[in-house]
Amino acid sequence: MARKPAPKPARARAEPVIGSAAVMQLLVSQMQDAYSAETQALEAYPAMLEATTSDSLRKAFEEHAEESKTQVDRLERALGLLDSNPGDTHCQGMQGLIEEAREQLQEHAPGPLLDVVLIAAAQRLEHYEIAGYGTMATLAEDLGEADVAELLEEILDEEKAADKRLSLLADEEINAAALGEDEEEDEDADEAADEEEEEE
Ligand code: FE
Ligand code: ZN
Ligand code: FE
Repeated sequence: MARKPAPKPARARAEPVIGSAAVMQLLVSQMQDAYSAETQALEAYPAMLEATTSDSLRKAFEEHAEESKTQVDRLERALGLLDSNPGDTHCQGMQGLIEEAREQLQEHAPGPLLDVVLIAAAQRLEHYEIAGYGTMATLAEDLGEADVAELLEEILDEEKAADKRLSLLADEEINAAALGEDEEEDEDADEAADEEEEEE
């Protein structure tokens, strides 16, 4: 007969930890995590730059990589305002996103389809950052750390703009290139549908 598992020692329910010191600690560790995320993303950019065959996508990546360098600086400054430093946290989430992007890059030859893959990967990355900075900016604000909140909001706005730019690029250039001739047929069909609608 299977032995019954030993009864777990009754765990005294820990008092919930609350208070501004605890929330501040949480904010600091999230900012340290974001710092790690940014530095990992910076290391990943060169491979993405090299992989794309689209000038406009390359430019978007280049410009956001430059922006990311200033984000790293701002995070360092913001951590300093909280009497802290970047520490040595390793962001597992960003590592996973980058690993997945690398795998997918290897599955495609350079060209429009790979550019779609690049945009998909980059937008996942941006959304991950947007989620983090949104939370952190609100926490900083609620802790009364207006200067820190402002720095985080600046970064948040840049991440949102980077994401929008990628959406626009996908919609206006990259997806159509990947769709190739199908897209032209689709456009013809769309036009025909529009004309039909007008006739009605
Ligand atoms: Fe960033
Ligand atoms: Zn993380
Ligand atoms: Fe970003």
